[in-house]
Amino acid sequence: MIKLHDLEFEPYISEEEINAAIDKLAQELNKDYRDVTPVFLGVLNGSFMFASEVIKRFSGDCEVSFVKLGSYQGTQTTGNVKTLLGLNQSLKGKEVILLEDIVDTGNTLEEINEILEKEEVRNYEVASLFYKPEAYKKNFEIKYKGFEIPNKFIVGYGLDYDGLGRNLTQIYKRKEKIMTNLVLFGPPGAGKGTQAD
Ligand code: 5GP
Ligand code: MG
Ligand code: MG
Repeated sequence: MIKLHDLEFEPYISEEEINAAIDKLAQELNKDYRDVTPVFLGVLNGSFMFASEVIKRFSGDCEVSFVKLGSYQGTQTTGNVKTLLGLNQSLKGKEVILLEDIVDTGNTLEEINEILEKEEVRNYEVASLFYKPEAYKKNFEIKYKGFEIPNKFIVGYGLDYDGLGRNLTQIYKRKEKIMTNLVLFGPPGAGKGTQAD
């Protein structure tokens, strides 16, 4: 059990399990992108660890770029995705592999889809370490997935709770509690400013 700010988290997915999932995902990418030079586009902040591990396993030529988007406050999505740092290179005509830490509602993906359509990329596919099917509200295909998980709040391996937990090398999930105060005082993190996801 660990504590970050006011919340308790318990171990959920081990580093070994994460590495095995990334090995498998990278094998698929190596097969599918054998004859093309893709641009890996990581979505900061959450995807930095996943991006690093995927890109290290890629055996062909590739480019690497990042954008920074944010929507979460504490453990809740605001539904309002902001571009905090945009693209600094043209992706026109490129084969893009989007690297996401987690796809939840899909709002972030929708925002990125708009950016990539404007860029006139040749094609793009989404690779996400985690995916919450119960929370997903969009139709964009997520071709490469590490883990499908239930609609629980997780931290570690790049993912944060209000800035903390990104350095954890395994995944923790929020400990279930009877939350009698929730109705009276609102969810934890309410009222804080938008942070980079
Ligand atoms: P979406 O736009 O799909 O709702 O959410 C995407 C972003 O919200 C993710 O990139 C991630 O930063 C954040 N997010 C979604 N679910 C979780 C979660 O369970 N834990 C953490 N720490 N962040 C999450
Ligand atoms: Mg993300
Ligand atoms: Mg976050």
